[in-house]
Amino acid sequence: MRLRAAVIVHYHEVSLKGGNRPLFLRRLVQNLERATSDLGRVRAQQLTGRIALDLEDHPRPEAVLGRVTRVCGVASAALAYRVPSTLEAMKAVVRRVVEGRSFPSFRISARRAFKTYPMTSVELNRALGALVVEATGARVDLHAPALTVHVEVLPAETFVYLDRVAGPGGLPVGASGTVTALLSGGIDSPVAAWRMMKRGCRVVFVHFHSVPYLPATSQDKARALVGRLTEWQYRSQLLLTPLGEIQREVVLSVPPPARVVVYRRMMVRIAEALARQTGGQALVTGESLGQVASQTLANIARTDEVAETMPILRPLIGMDKLEITAEAQRLGTFEISIEPDADCCSLFVPRHPATRISPEEIVAIEAGLDVPRLVALGVDGAKLESFEFPLR
Ligand code: ATP
Ligand code: MG
Repeated sequence: MRLRAAVIVHYHEVSLKGGNRPLFLRRLVQNLERATSDLGRVRAQQLTGRIALDLEDHPRPEAVLGRVTRVCGVASAALAYRVPSTLEAMKAVVRRVVEGRSFPSFRISARRAFKTYPMTSVELNRALGALVVEATGARVDLHAPALTVHVEVLPAETFVYLDRVAGPGGLPVGASGTVTALLSGGIDSPVAAWRMMKRGCRVVFVHFHSVPYLPATSQDKARALVGRLTEWQYRSQLLLTPLGEIQREVVLSVPPPARVVVYRRMMVRIAEALARQTGGQALVTGESLGQVASQTLANIARTDEVAETMPILRPLIGMDKLEITAEAQRLGTFEISIEPDADCCSLFVPRHPATRISPEEIVAIEAGLDVPRLVALGVDGAKLESFEFPLR
């Protein structure tokens, strides 16, 4: 018997979407095809409660599986064989799957996606289990089997597979709208941006640099980070935005302890204007409460006050540095973030930033600045770069 291979994709949150489910599913299907588009032709099919990617004659099934398990919205995926939903066909494929493997114990995990199939899951488990015992001599162990054979019975066909690989979960990128992430070269903001992708957002990146007052290394880092994160959203935009001149003017009139908060407020004003031009509906930062002096509740409030129409989302607000670092390592952004660079925040930054500034104080401090002109300086100086997955 010639076996047809497929990747079977399971989702979780998308299935909770009620009336919007078709929309989310269509997006997930598009993203699955986009994520695998350079590996050879892969056709995604929506089936009852799951998606199948047909791999008939595909040269690189493992590579397809690797890509699929990085698509947001995917709870898990597996390389499967697809056969007609007859007991004979199921037996033949289960036999093929276990042949040549040695394992002391196993179980069959049959699931019926439609309950009118003439055999119950328990009956299927028994019939297919008996065959495996006979073919291999392994014993059945329902609790801690060395091998699990998954059998998913759909109306027209059945999928049989061994190992499930976990995906990121969440929602497909593009289903929740567009956000604008403030991307430094640090560890936190790339993780924050990824968290929003996992919630279904397309992320546009804004990076502030201090060229010509500092070298351009921070821009290369931002590019490398965006390149890495593009693996999850397939195309990205990065706005490289000048802050150096603004910082120079801030230094002339703002006392040292307040500078960090003023820089942050300028970044938010500029990012919000850029977001309006590029479809962003919210801003995203990598702040985590109390991590550094600029991230106290008071300073966060001072930052929020300057965003006019957009919420500032802080997906890492309740995470500690170890948790954030572990996630950065999983994403592959960590090794880029720890490269030394010339971060704009290292320019003209006081040793002891204020942790509490009142709304009245900050307004008085900024009275010496021509804020609209400085915002325009940043917005007009922003340079757009585009990224496509896979990177060339
Ligand atoms: P990160 O690890 O993301 O750099 P951090 O712990 O260094 O964060 P801060 O320097 O206080 O914290 O920055 C807080 C947030 O402000 C960052 O997470 C990022 O969203 C934004 N930000 C800081 N510097 C820049 C920059 N040069 N360009 C764009 N956004 C920035
Ligand atoms: Mg930083």
